[in-house]
Amino acid sequence: MRKILFLQPQLQERLWGGNRLAEYGYKLPSDHVGECWGVSAYPDSCATVRGGVYDGRRLDDLWREEPDLFGGAPAKEDFPLLIKIIDAHDDLSIQVHPDDAYAREHENGACGKTECWYVLDAEPGATIVIGHHAKTKEELAQMIADGRFRELIREVPVKKGDFFQIEPGTVHAIKAGTVVLETQESSDVTYRLYDYDRLQNGKKRPLHIKQSLDVIKTPFEPKAIEPVVKTKPGYVLTKYVDCRFYTVYKLEVDGTATVPLSGMFHTMSVIEGEGYLDGSRVEKGDHLVLAADYGDMKAVGRFTAIVTRV
Ligand code: ZN
Repeated sequence: MRKILFLQPQLQERLWGGNRLAEYGYKLPSDHVGECWGVSAYPDSCATVRGGVYDGRRLDDLWREEPDLFGGAPAKEDFPLLIKIIDAHDDLSIQVHPDDAYAREHENGACGKTECWYVLDAEPGATIVIGHHAKTKEELAQMIADGRFRELIREVPVKKGDFFQIEPGTVHAIKAGTVVLETQESSDVTYRLYDYDRLQNGKKRPLHIKQSLDVIKTPFEPKAIEPVVKTKPGYVLTKYVDCRFYTVYKLEVDGTATVPLSGMFHTMSVIEGEGYLDGSRVEKGDHLVLAADYGDMKAVGRFTAIVTRV
């Protein structure tokens, strides 16, 4: 079933957003666009299909009504992924997500969140926050109570092409000057630990200190990503992570390539260049779903995409 669903992305304005998402071909409503939700089945920000036999249909409806497109996914579950491009013109708040067990118990049966970042671009000297320096829960609680956040957080330099997996319980933040492609479990449970004492409409945004203390894993243990690179005629495929929720690859096409796609559906977000997939034109900024049991995909051109499989 060789079906490609092109999705119409949803842009989101944020206080910390900028104008760099224009580089992906999107028409921005302002200079404060923080997020492009490329693959989303969230009820109030759901992607719709652009062109083809499903033109105008919502991704959440298709997920329920056309399960064969996705590999016979169980209809009672929600679409499992949310894929965004994020432009951090300013620092995002420092946050942590619970795991599934904590979220189920404390957030009305919601899911936890595992997420990962592929760095699309970073200004010289840019950093991100991943992890913290407290050795015990007591030390963590004390540092938070004392407001010693700058000492607490673990900040690391970033550059284009870096990849980070953020497990539940990991303190994290995207900081100014970085554009990332984020793949995550489709969940929205976020606990804000620190917001740099910033004001929004004259007020500080609420923090979730108790929940953060409950879920932050202590001590933080960094895990290195070991990408697996396969070079084939016409393309290079790099696998970054293979976890319970998703597998994330980078596909670099140069020339003519035959890429086998089997099993459940795949998503693809084009981050560079342009070309054709089985005759359909693709270019930087496109987000699409390749239906289940796709078979051999013929890719022509010169482009790079982040490909995700559930
Ligand atoms: Zn997060």
